[in-house]
This record gives sequence, C-alpha cells and structure tokens, in this order.
Amino acid sequence: MTRSANETELGRKRRARRIGRVLTETHPDAHCELDHSNPLELAVATILSAQCTDKKVNEVTPKLFARYPSAVDYAGADRTELEELIRPTGFYRNKTDSLIKLGRALVERYDGQVPGRLTELVTLPGIGRKTANVILGNAFDVPGITVDTHFQRLVGRWGLTTETDPVKIEHAVGALYERRDWTMLSHRIIFHGRRVCHARKPACGACTLTKLCPAYGTGPTDPALAVKLLKGPRARDLAVAAGVDPDLVPPAAVPAEVP
Ligand code: SF4
Repeated sequence: MTRSANETELGRKRRARRIGRVLTETHPDAHCELDHSNPLELAVATILSAQCTDKKVNEVTPKLFARYPSAVDYAGADRTELEELIRPTGFYRNKTDSLIKLGRALVERYDGQVPGRLTELVTLPGIGRKTANVILGNAFDVPGITVDTHFQRLVGRWGLTTETDPVKIEHAVGALYERRDWTMLSHRIIFHGRRVCHARKPACGACTLTKLCPAYGTGPTDPALAVKLLKGPRARDLAVAAGVDPDLVPPAAVPAEVP
C-alpha cells in the first residue's frame, strides 16, 4: 500500500494516520529524551542539545540545574563557571552566552518565568521555533510538532510532504493528524529516526512500516542484514515488532547511546 504517483489527498491522510498508529505500537516508550522537571530546565536542556546527544546533555544537567535553579541564577551567572559546567556539550561559549541572555530576558520581560506561548517563546535568546515547540509540547501540554533532522527526513521518505522548509513541513504534517496527537507523534517519529530509519542506512528489512513506506529499499531489505542496524535498548523488541527473529540482533550492535 505504498504511495503511488496518483495518491489522493485523502489517501495520503489515511496512510499518514496508519503510519501514526504503527509507530504508536512500535515505540510505546517514546518520550522527550531530555531530562527536565520544569519549563526552564527543558529550555536550558534544549539549548544545550544543539550539536550534542541528549545522553550527553542528561549527564551535564543534574549538576547544572542544582547550581542554577532559576532564571535569575542564569542572568547573574559567572561566565567561566557556567562554561566549565556545560563544556562537555560542545560549543560551550555560544551556549553559555545563550543561557545568560535567556536568563536576563526572562527576568526582564517575564518575571523570571518561561512563557507558554509560541509567539513569546520565539522572541527569547537561543529559542527557535523547534525549541519552542519542544517546550510547549513537553512542559506546557500544548500540542506541538518538532521538526528536527529526523522528523524532516522521515516524513520526506514517507512522501507525507514535499516541503523542505521546517515551518512549512510543520504545517503540512500537522494537517494530516489530530492536533492532540502532535507532540507524541513527533517523539515517535524521532524515535523511529534514531533507532530504525537512519539517515545513511535505514533498517528497511526490519522496519514495521515496510507496507506503508514508498522509500522501502533505501536501506537493506534482507532482514538478517537490516536487523543489525536497529539501535537502542529495545532493538530486540523492534525486531519482533517487524516480524524478524530477535536472536539475529547482535548484542554488540545495540549501543546504549542513540544519537
Ligand atoms: S521502510 Fe526503510 S525508509 Fe521506510 S521507514 Fe522503514 S527504514 Fe525508513
């Protein structure tokens, strides 16, 4: 039932919804992979996640959040000390700059609180539309679509949109799904991109979406080869979900860290 050249709008919407349902079953553990307990922590973690794995960010943030619990603390931070704390996440000078400016903007304009509206969030230093949607969806329960590199690649492979601009992708894909599903859909698509549908070698032969994906065959279709490309702690479960023998998953091929 892969997409044909003359697939109708309705056909595409139905296929998109089916993809959504399969992803719900495939990735029951999908969630925001940045540890946080409030909107400020999520904003900070998201800024740190630029060009860095979520795992690395999660290693740094417990100490950081304990040392800087409020926007006031970032606004008045000692630059050298803050740089040292976040250095492992890379680009630490720029990120320190963003965090201090974010703290100042929150104190000056929002009484030290992270606002819960897209239009306000995107005016803050270090917060683009993608970050704003992550914050809205995960810290404020406002449905949001997060168009990161994985999301963009996967919806393109599925032929859900031909747009290349992230904002246009957000609107095009958003129109195919119920608004209330946007946040979890984003997590599931990103999970699938990190664990199964990789940029260079997608695990097509061990993917649950083979019947719905027009890009099936971009990666190896032989299950014995594809299964070795599955990543993450649930690699065996992912194999089972795709109807592939989980014993074919080599233990060494399941890295603890999923980029
Ligand atoms: S079939 Fe291949 S290209 Fe399509 S979603 Fe699965 S891994 Fe990605």
